[in-house]
Amino acid sequence: MNEDGSRRWIRPKPSAGVWNSRRRVVAYALMLLYLAIPHIQLRGKPLILLDAPRREFTLFGYTFLPTDTLLFMIFLGIVVLLVVSFTALFGRVWCGWGCPQTVWMEYLFRPLERWFEGGRAGSLGIDRGKGHLHPRRVLKYAVYAALAVILANTFLAYFVGVDQLKVWVTQSPVEQPTSFAIMAVTTILVFLDFAYFREQTCTIACPYGRWQSVLLDRASVIVAYDPGRGEPRQKGRDRTGAGDCIDCSACVQTCPTGIDIRDGLQMECIHCTQCIDACDAIMDQVGTPRGLIRYTSREALEGAPQHLLRARTILYPAGLIVLLGIFAWQLSIKSTADVTLLRALDQPFREDADGAISNQVRVRIANRSGEARNYRLAIIGADGGQVIIPVNPFPVAHNATETLSLFVILPKSAFTAGQHEIRLRVDDGAGFDEEFPYQLLGPTGATSRTPPAGPSSTHGAP
Ligand code: SF4
Ligand code: SF4
Repeated sequence: MNEDGSRRWIRPKPSAGVWNSRRRVVAYALMLLYLAIPHIQLRGKPLILLDAPRREFTLFGYTFLPTDTLLFMIFLGIVVLLVVSFTALFGRVWCGWGCPQTVWMEYLFRPLERWFEGGRAGSLGIDRGKGHLHPRRVLKYAVYAALAVILANTFLAYFVGVDQLKVWVTQSPVEQPTSFAIMAVTTILVFLDFAYFREQTCTIACPYGRWQSVLLDRASVIVAYDPGRGEPRQKGRDRTGAGDCIDCSACVQTCPTGIDIRDGLQMECIHCTQCIDACDAIMDQVGTPRGLIRYTSREALEGAPQHLLRARTILYPAGLIVLLGIFAWQLSIKSTADVTLLRALDQPFREDADGAISNQVRVRIANRSGEARNYRLAIIGADGGQVIIPVNPFPVAHNATETLSLFVILPKSAFTAGQHEIRLRVDDGAGFDEEFPYQLLGPTGATSRTPPAGPSSTHGAP
């Protein structure tokens, strides 16, 4: 914030150095990866596809279906433990090196800004002058908008898949107003993120930065200023009694979140290492050793012995190993098909003219076997009645999920208190052979009546 309460736009000064060179290589590799992942297939499936409307999440060749709640929760637990273990050991390395927000902002959008606006000095001059209406800045925003379209479409491809996205992109907005609206809103959000919110996404919106006080401990690796060596900071040639910090503010000018690392560990620090390069360059100029700002830990700065092995670096990885084991075990016992039984969409049962009670049962089969299968269906417990299965065996393609409606018709006398239990046997002739219980519904008393439709009674494969 400026003194008058207006926003202080941060125009960080670029700092060349070894860390910047390393980060640039990592950043460009990650940009390519980020753009490529929606197009990469593993075992015939997208590498990552988060199909939220269908509640199907494909990760590294495995698709979590709605019936995989336990497996998916374990997977999320593994991700959380990975994050906390990694943070406990290496601090916010992810923020500075791997997060798409940092990578795109610092290695695409900010360099473009400096190029269009005439460097940092040019940007600061535009801030003081015409601001957002300056022709150079307007041109920059036009390029930002074109990039936002590409990034937004890439982002959406993670959720709808590249094939569906191609359909969205090629169809007229009039034909597909909903998909067009999703694409437009996503593009606007991406544009605003990189053109307006910028570092505020990290310092205000991102929850990960706020967890750091919990996730880090005194032995975690952080980017930090060494006050024991740098203080008392002092400008000027007379260094009598002064520390190594010459108070040049190069570390502040280069910081993309606008903080002063000499104030200690701060939530806003994304550990991007730019201040390390800036300060090392100053140290070279004044002839003092590099590393006044460096990767270190609070323990090391205090001169205390460093501990790689400590409670959180033992317990988190131990928990991670346990969860990975449970996950692998669950995968190994996973059935080759998921079967879900659902009630009719309109009314739970129908009373026919001859008094018989008809139940429609929707059988949803997800084929996980890796090849096309034909599933034979049989109803057990419907003696004296009639079973209509329109397609039997029921074919389901490789990795597909299909639904078939079958009908069970029983005399009213078969129902007790409005219920009759049957079992559905599903057999694919290749090893999958399981039975699923299901409650048929009927009239509760002597006088037939149709109860209100309730939630589906479902049974998944174990
Ligand atoms: S203080 Fe240093 S490491 Fe932290 S965000 Fe600023 S420049 Fe990056
Ligand atoms: S860049 Fe180094 S010398 Fe300059 S103010 Fe920052 S810590 Fe001090």
